[in-house]
Amino acid sequence: MTSLTARIAALLDGRTDRPRRIAVVGAGVLGLTTAWALARRGHAVTVLDAGPIPNPEGSSFDEGRIIRHAYGTMEGYAAMMPAAFTAWRALFAETGADRLVPARAIYALREETPWQGAVARSQARHGLGFTAVDPATIPVLNPDGVIRAMEVAGSGMLLAAPILADLVALLPSLGVVLRPCSVVAACPEGGPVLADGTRIPADATLVAAGAGVLRLMPEAARRFGLRASLQTVAYLEPPPGLWEDAPMLLCRLPGHPTGGVYVLPPRAGTRLKIGDYDTSATVSPDAPRDPPRAGRVAALLHAGARAIAGFGAHRVMGARHCLYTMAPEDRFVLQPVAAGVTLASACSGHGFKLAPLMALGLAAGVEGQVTAEHLAFWASGREGEASAATASA
Ligand SMILES: Cc1cc2nc3c(=O)[nH]c(=O)nc-3n(C[C@H](O)[C@H](O)[C@H](O)COP(=O)(O)OP(=O)(O)OC[C@H]3O[C@@H](n4cnc5c(N)ncnc54)[C@H](O)[C@@H]3O)c2cc1C
Repeated sequence: MTSLTARIAALLDGRTDRPRRIAVVGAGVLGLTTAWALARRGHAVTVLDAGPIPNPEGSSFDEGRIIRHAYGTMEGYAAMMPAAFTAWRALFAETGADRLVPARAIYALREETPWQGAVARSQARHGLGFTAVDPATIPVLNPDGVIRAMEVAGSGMLLAAPILADLVALLPSLGVVLRPCSVVAACPEGGPVLADGTRIPADATLVAAGAGVLRLMPEAARRFGLRASLQTVAYLEPPPGLWEDAPMLLCRLPGHPTGGVYVLPPRAGTRLKIGDYDTSATVSPDAPRDPPRAGRVAALLHAGARAIAGFGAHRVMGARHCLYTMAPEDRFVLQPVAAGVTLASACSGHGFKLAPLMALGLAAGVEGQVTAEHLAFWASGREGEASAATASA
């Protein structure tokens, strides 16, 4: 574990001797886990959300999210993953429900990239397996064009909606106030301002508003290169029995307009889900998401058929669009934007798995245990990258 990550993870233990009033804007996974990290250390936290809490329109709301150690060439984030798993376990111990379902993860590689060497290094560093698997042993995988199938140990699915529900149930017992209301100004000194003009008194404000930050703080969003993209997912009913012990599949499809698909098997009450890697469409956070765009859904299903064996025997139960907040190079943005105000953007495809660890980072920032500059650097995954490069040199 890298030094800053270790220092930040240490905030799981103990309480502050200088409790502060914190306003958290946004009750997605980042806002709610941040409230958890702060409240259990003794801070007085108010969470504000423009929608219901939890908000089914937020990026965090879905049946399942992937968690894994493999991070490709972003080895700094791979270095954070053991601490991220530890933070999830600490949260589940307090909610009383373990929402991490272990699941095999198979990467079906159709071209040679630097990804494989980087994952081999980071898995070895964590003592985790990274094993070639005969594609023929995975009945759900379409082997056409697959040059190698690699199993990445230490992977699983986070049951996203139940996690949000557990947090909403837990937080009031830690003294957290959950308040459905829209914030119209996050940066005034003394605390954020609501649509009805009320000010929420706060010593510090943490803005975890997902794509809503583009509306709330357009200048800061521009400065840090944030944008919203529309992601398409579909839920499938598989032929009976086929997916019972099947792994998650991660299938890049070189040359395909979607970039490829990831597949979450049905587990613990979730449906079989496919999603694609097409992040090319930049949209307004208010863009209508219903009905799903037929062209995007067709492209996703076409990619699904390239990745999944016997795809035609699966029934499409539904499809939807969700908002991704994209940041340059897919790196988290935890940046000061005004006195006492920090923008926290859980970016792109990895915002869920790292949320409780990022939440501890935000707590470390609030308590002055790390400087704003160090926090931003750490959240960008560059600290671990530097040590990973040293370790592999
Ligand atoms: C389809 C899809 C698949 C994904 N897959 C994975 C995965 O497998 N693994 C992984 O780790 N991550 C994954 N992610 C990414 C991850 O889900 C997100 O990064 C994460 O959920 C973002 O959380 P958040 O709390 O920052 O934002 P959100 O969940 O969007 O929460 C932001 C909240 O802020 C509120 N808000 C906005 N504006 C205001 C305002 N002015 N006042 C008050 N409240 C406001 C909104 O109502 C919303 O509830 C995926 C994302 C999507 C969309």
